[in-house]
Order: sequence, then C-alpha cells, then structure tokens
Amino acid sequence: MKFLSTPPQKFTLPKRIARLGALATNLWWAWHPEAARLFGRLDYDLWEQLGHNPIRLLREIDSARLSLIAKDQDYLASYDEVFEKYDSYFQKETWAQKELPEIKDSIAYFSMEYGLHETLPIYSGGLGVLAGDHLKESSDLGLPLIAVGFMYAQGYFSQRISEDGWQEALNKQLTFEDLPVALVTKNNQPVTVEIKFPDRTLSAQIWEVRVGRVPLYLLDSNVPSNSEYDRQLTARLYWSDLDRRIMQEILLGIGGVRALRALGYAPAAWHMNEGHAAFLTLERARELVAEGFAFADAAQRNRAQNIFTTHTPVPAGNDEFPLWLVDKYLANYWGELGLTREEFVQVAAHQQPHGETYSMPILALKLSAKSNGVSALHGEVAREMWSFLWKDQAVKDVPIDHVTNGVHTRNWLARRFNPLLEKYLGADWYERLDERALMEKIDSIPNAELWNLHLHLKRKLAFYLRERVRERWTHGGFHPVQVVSSGVLINPYALTIGFARRFATYKRASLVLSDVERLIQIINRPNLPVQIIFAGKAHPADDPGKQLIQKVYRTVKQAETGGRLVFIEDYDMNLARYLVQGVDVWLNTPRRPYEASGTSGMKAAINGALNFSVLDGWWREAYDGQNGWSIGRDQAYESPEIQDAADAEDLYQTLENEIIPMYYDHDAKEMSQAWIARMKSAMKTVIPQFSTRRMLKQYIEKFYIPAVKSKS
Ligand SMILES: *Cc1c(COP(=O)(O)O)cnc(C)c1O
Repeated sequence: MKFLSTPPQKFTLPKRIARLGALATNLWWAWHPEAARLFGRLDYDLWEQLGHNPIRLLREIDSARLSLIAKDQDYLASYDEVFEKYDSYFQKETWAQKELPEIKDSIAYFSMEYGLHETLPIYSGGLGVLAGDHLKESSDLGLPLIAVGFMYAQGYFSQRISEDGWQEALNKQLTFEDLPVALVTKNNQPVTVEIKFPDRTLSAQIWEVRVGRVPLYLLDSNVPSNSEYDRQLTARLYWSDLDRRIMQEILLGIGGVRALRALGYAPAAWHMNEGHAAFLTLERARELVAEGFAFADAAQRNRAQNIFTTHTPVPAGNDEFPLWLVDKYLANYWGELGLTREEFVQVAAHQQPHGETYSMPILALKLSAKSNGVSALHGEVAREMWSFLWKDQAVKDVPIDHVTNGVHTRNWLARRFNPLLEKYLGADWYERLDERALMEKIDSIPNAELWNLHLHLKRKLAFYLRERVRERWTHGGFHPVQVVSSGVLINPYALTIGFARRFATYKRASLVLSDVERLIQIINRPNLPVQIIFAGKAHPADDPGKQLIQKVYRTVKQAETGGRLVFIEDYDMNLARYLVQGVDVWLNTPRRPYEASGTSGMKAAINGALNFSVLDGWWREAYDGQNGWSIGRDQAYESPEIQDAADAEDLYQTLENEIIPMYYDHDAKEMSQAWIARMKSAMKTVIPQFSTRRMLKQYIEKFYIPAVKSKS
C-alpha cells in the first residue's frame, strides 16, 4: 500500500514534540487511545471544545503552553512510548505478510459511508462504523486493502431536539483544511474522474485519508467544471431524492473504479459493502468490453473477483431505481457495454407489482461470485428473500453465505482495560485477541479490579453527560425540563441501561415504554434505582422515525420519571464510546428478524456491559444464558402485534425478576459477585468471536483468497 498525497504540513511545533504533526494526519491515533490522550493532555479544555480534532488543536493551541509541555518529563515519557508503538506498527512484519504471501495485489473495498472518528462525519450509523472498523482491522493485519467512498461537504447532520421532542437537523459545511484529508494531485493538478451522462459530464476530485496503513479515497463532486446542481451531489449522505441517489451510486461504482485506475491500482478483489456500489461490476465489465470481449464473457470473467455483502433484510430497504432514471443517466452507457437497453435492464431487473425496476442488490448478486449476509439468521433471511433469482434451486442452496459482523476491539475498548488485560492475559493479548482459550483467562482478573474499573467508567459517563448539558444550558435556548431530560440527575451508582441506535421503526425504541406506568414503578423502587439513557438520530426524511423520537422524548420529560429516563442529543461515535463503555446493560429491541446483525451491543459487551436483547442478528449467536439476557423467543411470531406484546411482557419480567435483583445483590464490599461473573462471561465470549479480527479473517479465507487465486 502506498499513500499518494502529501499531507499538508501546517504546524509550528517545538522540535521535541514535532512528530505530533504526523500523528494528527493519520487516523491511526483514533484507535489508539493512548495516542489520542497525547493530544488531550496538551490542553484538555481546548481538546474537548474542538471535538477531539488534533489538527485544529495543534494549530490553535497557545505556543507558550506547547513550549512548556516540550519540557515536561512525564509528558515526554508518554510521547516516546506512543511513538515507539507507532514506529513499530508501521515497520514490523505484519500478519498478512507472514500468513498471506499470496495476496500481493490490493483488495478494493467500496462503501457509501465510513465511520472512522467523530471529527470526520461521513457516516450515518452501523453500516459506516462497520466499514470504518473493517479498514482499521485491515491496517492492523497488514491486509493490502484500499477503500473508496465519498467526501461529503456537509457530512451527516447534527441533531437537536426541540422542547417538544421534534428532531431538528443542522447541516454545517465542513472545513476540509481542518480534517485529515489531502487532495490527490498529479503535476500539481487535482486527479479527477469523469462520467459522461447523456446531457453532460460529471467530474469528481479525490481526497485521501490515511487509516493506519490503509488509504481511503473519497470522491468529491464539488469542482468548478460541474454545474451547481452537480457540485452539490456529494454534499450529503443519502439524499432522499432518487435523482441524486442514482447519480451518487453511479459516481461511487463507476467513478470509484476509474479513480482507482487513475491512481494506478489493479485490485485482485472488489468488495461491495451494500448494494450502493454495485455499478462497479458494470464498469469492470466495460473495461474488458473495450478490449474486445462480449459483455456476457466480460461479466463472467470478472465475477470471481466480485464480493457483495448485503445488510438489508427488508425488501423495501433495498435500493431500486425507476427505469426512467436509468434512461436519464445511463442511456449512453449500455452502448459502451455492447448491450441494448432491454439487455442492460435485464441484468438488474426486478419485477414489482408497480412495474419493473432496476435493483442494485440484484445487480450485485448476479455479477458477484460471492455474496453474504452479516449474521447466520440474516443469511437465512437473505437466501429466502432472493430465492426467486435462483428458481431451480432449493432455498438452502441459494448462494448467499454469511459472515457475522464484528467490532474493532482497540477502537471500542476503554483505554484503561489495556493494562488490566496485559496484566492478566499477557502483554501480547491484543495480537491474540481472537483466541478463545486466551480469553478464558479473564476469569483470573480479581472481581474488585474489574468492578472498580467499571465504576470509574460509569462515573466518567455521568460527568460527561453533565458537561454536555452545562454547555447547552450556557448557550441558551434550552428549557430547564430539557436540562433534566439530558441526564443531569443521573446517578453514577445506579443500574444504568443504554439504548442508542438509529431511530428506524423496526428497532422499536418505544418497546420498553409500552407500559409507561409499570416502567415508572420499576425505575423508582426505593433503594433499587434504574435509569435508561436513550440516544439516536432518525433519517431527516423519516417522519415515523422522528415521531418515535418525539414519543420517547415526551415520556422522558415527565416529572414522574425522576430524571431517570433521559435522551441525549446527537448520537455519534463519541457519545457511543462513552455509552458502551459506561453503562451496565445494553438494551436492544429490534423486531426479529429485521436486525441484520447489530454491532453496538458487541461494543458494550467487550467493555463488560450485559446485553439484554431480542434473539436477532449477532445476539442470537452470542447469547449463552450466562453473558446477558434474552428478550422474546428464537422464533417467528404470528403477527407484529403479538410479537410486540410478548416481547414487552418478557422485557419487563426479566428486568424486574432477574436483572434488577442481581445488580443490587451486594455483598459486604458493595459488589454483586453474580453480576461480575456475568460481565466476565460477556467479555470472554464476545471479545474473540465478535471482533473484526475474526470477521476479517473469515472474509479473507472465504472470499478474498479465492478471488486472488482466480485472478492469477
Ligand atoms: C456502532 C454504532 C452504530 C450501530 O449500532 P447498531 O447496533 O447497529 O444499532 C450506530 N451508530 C453509531 C454512532 C455507532 O457507534
């Protein structure tokens, strides 16, 4: 892997700590908390105020302060330690160099969004965070992955909740100079890609982000040669209007392949994270058609290198376009493939009751050798859902496999766990984190040490929420009731449940509120306080999602909740980190089987939080009776109404009869031994199995290696 851009060097730093500049321009620091802390220690207030942006911090920090720090022995010791790690990370032989000598060419990874850090808001939720974790793990393993996405000029929106609970979306223009992105240039000119539409040409330039060893290339249509409309194309994620949507996907798939070619890459595998990138299959076929192959032959030759991961178990959630839009933007493209319009449409045609549409997942499924869902149950659901494409095969033989998602351990594990795990598992625990036998040693951690660390993280969460409210209150326009609803009354010693995710209706955020009176009784029992922290955004065009937020917010605001139900605005990776590290229980109530996998529960479990969740997605595979609790049964229900009622009743009963009594079953040292045993079970079972380490190795073995072999 190589980096093509020159990161703009724009810091004046004392010589002794000058390497902070290089650290700030590679996101490696974002998943090495001890490196992030080097920035924080320069000036904690400024670091928080700037939202953890090291580039701005280094530019805006007082130079007298920097000179002082450059002489602080304690700081310099940490500095040297971090850079020793940094140098060894980039110099030592990687796992892939040792284990995978056959992978020489790059693996290309395409995704509409990437969640790498809160300062680069080019993600909306789980799909993006998964992609970000995929890149970080690829860097750790030394897999020669290169990635393609979009540099959204405004990023994803920030969320404000009005006094009445209505979500307001704030879109701010990002300042690229403040971000770890560099424009890719050749001979001092931006490298661009072009796509000819029937009536005009669309151009895009390319930004490079360094994710450890992995380069991420982000397309940006905001260039002078484009019309004003086209310049806005990459301003935001997920335009709800289909015209922009198809243009974005054409730019990602077709433009993305052209970008990699312009940068000199010849990938051996092409991985599509969701159907948005499926046009890449056509563009790669077009390259061979230009060399003289017929389309069918070209598509067949490329198939073995195409890999498609689907994430959507709901038919309506899949991307499809009306044919008039296909005509509008691709009428000159099928000719280049040597196809008629009819033949072109047939490749991805989906017969719907309202007529024929052009389906992105069908395009990807038909032109990829390997496809997969993201949990065992989702694999089953996907095989059933797409079985009409393989009419002569039994559903179980539909060629859609599954690889269950994982999370990047170092990115999501609280910094303070590292010394604890080094002490009881060995200094090399991180290299071996997917070894289940090693993780059994978590049992040897003394209960008091684990519990004290957990209490520290709970206090940190409570103080963090308090500071956020103070900040909002100070700036005005915040009603006192909202102050209470935002968590100022949170007790760092009470049983704390987290519920944070996108507010899509299938996630049933209000299931726990289905009997508000009963819930209020449960949380207010003398000496057994329970608090629930809600957070999450709804897509700006999703009114049912916004109404759900409003319903939750209106409940949270009631005085009877005693400040024990709270809603925190603006869920992002930063808030997610505090929550998954600081709560006791992670609640998840999707309507089975619509949660393809879910990942936030994994982040919580590796930090010792106990999942309390519907047996859907990943939790159905992880739950063993000891590492958390289930909600509802592992089966389909007669109707959504029956399902909701049964799940709600089960939720309340388990909370009342098992979770609360166990949490408060304190011994003389104020600890519940049974609870801590469960925390250890959660960590032992989830760290190895639900890591991107295990996940990426499966992608390598099942998909990347066969693709590489088929090429050579
Ligand atoms: C992990 C994460 C998600 C995904 O959560 P789910 O479990 O899939 O609901 C969404 N948003 C943020 C900010 C995250 O960190």
